[in-house]
Amino acid sequence: MKIDLEHVYYMPKELKPGVLYVSKEFKTAAHLCACGCGAKIRTPLAPTEWSLEETDKGPTLHPSVGNWQQVCQSHYWIYRGEVKWSEKWTSGQIAGGRRGEEERRRVYYDTLDRQHGGAMQKLWLWIKSIFN
Ligand SMILES: [Zn+2]
Repeated sequence: MKIDLEHVYYMPKELKPGVLYVSKEFKTAAHLCACGCGAKIRTPLAPTEWSLEETDKGPTLHPSVGNWQQVCQSHYWIYRGEVKWSEKWTSGQIAGGRRGEEERRRVYYDTLDRQHGGAMQKLWLWIKSIFN
């Protein structure tokens, strides 16, 4: 199945099958589940969520799309404008995948915190040095 990329500002209410809608303004993408079940799949575009690459053949979404909340439980990749089906995950794998996501988020925000903390600490040391 082919997936075309369409740039939008607002997500349309009705999505067409085979189209990946991307709103750079709202940093999100949406498409209809590739299995044809009609479920709307939203994939936020953020460092801890999905990343989008536009190739001359079509869009690539990374990582894979796992529709565990949907009845169909489809799992596939959108790679260069093509849907590549992946194996369905067992509930154990789904739990593991979720843990992986949480871990990715934790590491990301930890790093931000540390960068932030480092800057705050420097500022604090500088203020102390003025008053000492
Ligand atoms: Zn589906």
